[in-house]
Amino acid sequence: MGRRTYGSGPHAARHSAKEIAKANDAFAKQAREFNLLYDCRHCVHVRHDGTSCSMDYPNRMLWDAAATSHALDERGHLVFCKYYEHS
Ligand code: SF4
Repeated sequence: MGRRTYGSGPHAARHSAKEIAKANDAFAKQAREFNLLYDCRHCVHVRHDGTSCSMDYPNRMLWDAAATSHALDERGHLVFCKYYEHS
């Protein structure tokens, strides 16, 4: 699959599916090695219904990404939350 551009403007993701998969694999490996805690599952703000948090974010996408230790979504956009606080 060739390189694709998704979206427009300065935040458009510009990665092929292969590049995204490679980056996600590398991130998952490092998350395991360093026991990184960075997502809703370990955040003080999470509501355990998995659909929202006390910050009122609809965090379903983040919750799903966390389960697979993915750092990028299918378009190559980061799926991190800057309001994460360790619980
Ligand atoms: S603040 Fe961010 S990391 Fe924490 S539960 Fe809400 S969406 Fe997840």
